[in-house]
Amino acid sequence: MPISDPLLFSQMVAVAAVDRRSPLTEALGLERTDLGRLLRRYLPDRLSLLADLPAAANRGADALEEPDLRAYLLEHRAGRGEEEGWLAAIIARRSLQPNHLWQDLGLADRGELSWLFKRHFPELAARNRFDMKWKKFFYRALCEREGVPICKAPNCTVCDDAALCFAPEAGSRLSGAWPLVASTGAAAPRAYGP
Ligand code: SF4
Repeated sequence: MPISDPLLFSQMVAVAAVDRRSPLTEALGLERTDLGRLLRRYLPDRLSLLADLPAAANRGADALEEPDLRAYLLEHRAGRGEEEGWLAAIIARRSLQPNHLWQDLGLADRGELSWLFKRHFPELAARNRFDMKWKKFFYRALCEREGVPICKAPNCTVCDDAALCFAPEAGSRLSGAWPLVASTGAAAPRAYGP
């Protein structure tokens, strides 16, 4: 289902903000300046999130595969604006979390993630037309680039792992990760987190 960019980003910020294990910059994989630009553009009523950050808060250390995934996403962005740089960083960082990617991005369902890719990374959406799980899709793509085969079979139709790669990603929105704006995209902050 189509959703607005303001709603998209508000959900991502919300899910990262309720994760108290790391500063918001680190939970989102964004430098402080980028987080500031994002908040000013989409959540101007939540600039306190920036002010509340520890002085030394920044994006934090990348995981081993994160720079490659970020670069891969950037390579396939639609070119609609700097938002796609933020999205590449956020998706690469949130992909490290253990749930379905749509859940770790704070989205309401997998359909919103499909919409995100169609709008901001259309070439990847087209490549993933059979709806492989996005984390599987990323790591398969990155491994292929490195010449490291991860697939047991020459193609998905004859592979024993097809159920793992294409299984429905059912579930509920992560607890506490409610959007900070209304679905219209208008600024309408809602309470979230402690
Ligand atoms: S279903 Fe098998 S061949 Fe297809 S991506 Fe998954 S592991 Fe690779």
